[in-house]
Amino acid sequence: GGRWGKAEAVVRELEERFSTPAGKLRQVADAMTVEMHAGLASEGGSKLKMLISYVDNLPTGDENGLFYALDLGGTNFRVMRVQLGGKEGRVAKQEFAEVSIPPHLMTGTSHELFDFIAAELAKFVATEGEGFHLSHGRQRELGFTFSFPVRQTSISSGTLIKWTKGFSIDDTVGEDVVAELTKAMERQGLDMRVSALVNDTIGTLAGGRYTDKDVVVAVILGTGSNAAYVERAHAIPKWHGLLPKSGEMVINMEWGNFRSSHLPLTEYDQAMDTESLNPGEQIFEKLVSGMYLGEIVRRVLLRMAEEAAFFGDTVPAKLRIPFVLRTPDMSAMHHDHSPDLKIVGNKLKNILGITNTSLKTRKMIIEICDIVAARGARLAAAGIYGVLKKMGRDTIIRDGEKQKTVVAVDGGLYEHYTFYRECLHSTMTELLGEGVSNTVILEHSNDGSGTGAALLAASHSQYL
Ligand code: ADP
Ligand code: MG
Repeated sequence: GGRWGKAEAVVRELEERFSTPAGKLRQVADAMTVEMHAGLASEGGSKLKMLISYVDNLPTGDENGLFYALDLGGTNFRVMRVQLGGKEGRVAKQEFAEVSIPPHLMTGTSHELFDFIAAELAKFVATEGEGFHLSHGRQRELGFTFSFPVRQTSISSGTLIKWTKGFSIDDTVGEDVVAELTKAMERQGLDMRVSALVNDTIGTLAGGRYTDKDVVVAVILGTGSNAAYVERAHAIPKWHGLLPKSGEMVINMEWGNFRSSHLPLTEYDQAMDTESLNPGEQIFEKLVSGMYLGEIVRRVLLRMAEEAAFFGDTVPAKLRIPFVLRTPDMSAMHHDHSPDLKIVGNKLKNILGITNTSLKTRKMIIEICDIVAARGARLAAAGIYGVLKKMGRDTIIRDGEKQKTVVAVDGGLYEHYTFYRECLHSTMTELLGEGVSNTVILEHSNDGSGTGAALLAASHSQYL
């Protein structure tokens, strides 16, 4: 009838507006490389900040001793300790703990947030036991993974440019986050020095390199999205410091803030952005990352409920609650292979209070998940392709020699959303072509950023 006709029409329109044919992805990738050049040329030269990480050497395997790492970047934060044993011993032992951040701390004061973090860290340090050895007379050292845009002033200091991903604490912006953490640790009576401040992308790159020498790019697909890669130091015009001995510098792209007229932005994206905590910012992140995919689907369903009575004559009240449909729930529905789509039915009932949905309705919801997830995954692939192009890794460069480019990927979205991951992989092959795509490997780096931060703390230890 008319109701189905309208619903069908909305989905067909969605399909068209969200479509990302290879030609469009190539335009996005080219725009990404153009912006990379601009961001490297001058401070403020691009939406892409292309932040200098002060990491000019990645782990070698020689790192030795006990080091801590702290990862703050999304809804959870992790603390870990690792006992490194050099080339022979490698990672002799590691332990970690994960704590979720009480939501009110994400929009409270700087003092409260850092006090909470330092207190949890102190608790964790207190449980240090067998297998971990701090050399006599030494201070414990920490690699601090802080996954928000930071203007680094050295390997162990940097000021917060802005919050993203649902955090909004005005008094931290412009402050040195290492100083904030250090003061909070002092208030806790915790004797520890931050010897490396890194982004999760940098941590992932470092952790990836430790296990595979061909890792040159790291990508995060979790709550947010970002990428880092190894750049030639002389290709960074805005760097006025001494050229590092290695000739290289790791760049934190902050690609979440990328935007381009080639991105397929729709009315749903525009409305979500306007109503977000950071309107006009992190546009690429809002298309590809886990914080937003479920929310986009919710907005589509709301429109279908309003315009096509998709869930009956009344619009389900819960469907109006922003962010009520989370990406893990979207992914659970999307992967429902049961004949009657029982999981879809249950999610609709439990999350949105929608009962008695027909199989046809459920099928249409899966179609919507498909469209939204595919657009995100394909755009993420275009981003990676753009980085590979900038690095000259999109063609076979070393004739005769075996060329291998490894991209370390981490984040809950990539790890758990199978459809998204597979779509990302197949799109990489589509963009690179069969031949080159055989030389590019996307490797899941499971919490590589924690180990990576500890490794960078080791290689920047005050005792070296
Ligand atoms: P963060 O990015 O906050 O550091 P993670 O890398 O663990 O943390 O990613 C968490 C994010 O991954 C969640 O916000 C969610 O968007 C996404 N995610 C987690 N589990 C799933 C899942 N089963 N399916 C799809 N996305 C998921
Ligand atoms: Mg993370």
